[in-house]
Amino acid sequence: MSFLPFTRPHIDEDTVAAVAEVLRSGWITTGPKCRELEAALSQRYGGRTVRVANSATAALELALRVARIGPDDEVIVPSLTWVATANVVLAVGATPRFIDVAADSRLIDLSLVEEAITSRTRAIMPVDLAGLPVDRDRLYALAAKRGLRVIEDAAQSQGANWHGREIGSFGDLVCFSFHPNKNMTTGEGGCLVMNTEEEATLFERLRFQGITRRADHTYDCDVLGGKSNLTDIAAVIGLGQLQQLDAFNAKRKALAKAYFEYLDPNRLELPLADFEHGNWHMFQVLLPEAMADLRAELIDRMKEDGIGIGVHFPAVHLTSLYQQRGYGGLRLPHTESIARRTMSLPLFPQMEIAQVERVAQNLHRHLDQIESQL
Ligand SMILES: *Cc1c(COP(=O)(O)O)cnc(C)c1O
Repeated sequence: MSFLPFTRPHIDEDTVAAVAEVLRSGWITTGPKCRELEAALSQRYGGRTVRVANSATAALELALRVARIGPDDEVIVPSLTWVATANVVLAVGATPRFIDVAADSRLIDLSLVEEAITSRTRAIMPVDLAGLPVDRDRLYALAAKRGLRVIEDAAQSQGANWHGREIGSFGDLVCFSFHPNKNMTTGEGGCLVMNTEEEATLFERLRFQGITRRADHTYDCDVLGGKSNLTDIAAVIGLGQLQQLDAFNAKRKALAKAYFEYLDPNRLELPLADFEHGNWHMFQVLLPEAMADLRAELIDRMKEDGIGIGVHFPAVHLTSLYQQRGYGGLRLPHTESIARRTMSLPLFPQMEIAQVERVAQNLHRHLDQIESQL
């Protein structure tokens, strides 16, 4: 039986052919395909302004710079996220202010935001972990009341919605990732949805050396930019993926439903059964507290059975960098508990329902064996 990874991108043959066409065209870096992808994304997000970059990490960092966030500023972030969310805050010289997640949704606990706000707080960066959206009504009410920018780390939530409105089609700055593990990919890549052409123009300059081209064929450089532009090779993959995003997400939803059918909620803590808003980017189960220390052994055993399990994510504030940066005394009980117990089960569009059953059966068997050793 072939190995079942926890995720795997699906690139169709039309997309493979489109990539070959770009390669043969003589123009492979940023060009018409990037502009086409930006236009297609803009159309999807209700006509809002979208610019692509070579990763969501780059797009998030540029979002902070577009929002003029830097030294002396604080940004509220969850710690149960990919390190990039907090790293970009450090990268612009600002300070991440971690707050805990809620135990049921595993998303940033919005009831803790107000007490975390100081005179330096400029923004909040919510993360739609596993593609389950943070409550946008509460989020934006809070941001408006306290005068904060919102930089949505929607890296995982392409195609998710909040009460019928697609994530990206409303709000402040919204960032998506096109990493191969995400619900649509460009190989590597990301994008930022913005409010104004002015923001988009600054984003364009920051992603490419800070230059502005002049009519006389020279250019000026008036801001320190970097090198975060996407290639047309990548963009054309994104165009193919975008057409399939809804079908991909429908299949993910069907697989998630199957997990709820086959998994025993008395042995594992299942995610919120929200089939209205999320895009099922991941299906994450939590081990019982008493078995948390045996997670690595369980993952190894599943691997021997040919099943890949992911861990998303270790708590950011407990990593060495953040311990060195002064977060050593910080306790986030829900985040730390979930981070110790979480396991991402295989879930990707090309997976079959029968494989969900196989994952569940193997998990239950190993849980019983490990439990009998306790
Ligand atoms: C994947 C991811 C990112 C970073 O995306 P890249 O495209 O790999 O830079 C940021 N935040 C979250 C929550 C992610 O899952």
